[in-house]
Amino acid sequence: METKMYELPPLPYGYKDLEPYISEEQLQIHHDKHHQAYVDGANALLKKFDARKSGEEFDVKAVAKELSFHVGGFKLHKLFWENMGPADKFGGEPTGIIAEYIEKDFGSFERFKKEFSQEAISTEGSGWAALTLCRKTNRIFIMQIEKHNVNVIPGFRIMLVLDVWEHAYYLDYKNVRPGYVEAFWNIVNWDEVNRRVDVWLNSPL
Ligand code: MN
Repeated sequence: METKMYELPPLPYGYKDLEPYISEEQLQIHHDKHHQAYVDGANALLKKFDARKSGEEFDVKAVAKELSFHVGGFKLHKLFWENMGPADKFGGEPTGIIAEYIEKDFGSFERFKKEFSQEAISTEGSGWAALTLCRKTNRIFIMQIEKHNVNVIPGFRIMLVLDVWEHAYYLDYKNVRPGYVEAFWNIVNWDEVNRRVDVWLNSPL
């Protein structure tokens, strides 16, 4: 049986394509340096696990924590790149099934946008805001993830995510997280969000 390592996925668009909301320099450093660091961190742990068979010891508690952090960081960034796109094609109000969920659970897109933005702005330290779908209750929830792994709720699949680590916006917005969060709405790829909802609703439990 074959095992694999983590690999940095390419962006689904060019480094300049999210301008003026996210600059080329900001996006390139975020993808090539920060996302790459989680790939490297996760792979370093896999190498530790591989060394088990030759009798290597490791601190199991520390490794379990690091695994959650690095793999969380790896996966969240992949979701993040894919749920954005150039502002000439994306952004604006949601359509399709996600628009129906938002209307059902939040009453309006305005209310949803306000709550999601507040969750993103108020995340303590480094973290993420994530729109999730619980199939058990058929409701959408906003999850406020600290770091890459704290407050994650099992079974709440992520449909849309926003990185609010300072490394995501410091070159463009300095310390002004609310300006970055507001800009995000111009580059949300709602088609990708709808695709995720469709896949999640149609996958076997
Ligand atoms: Mn990031």
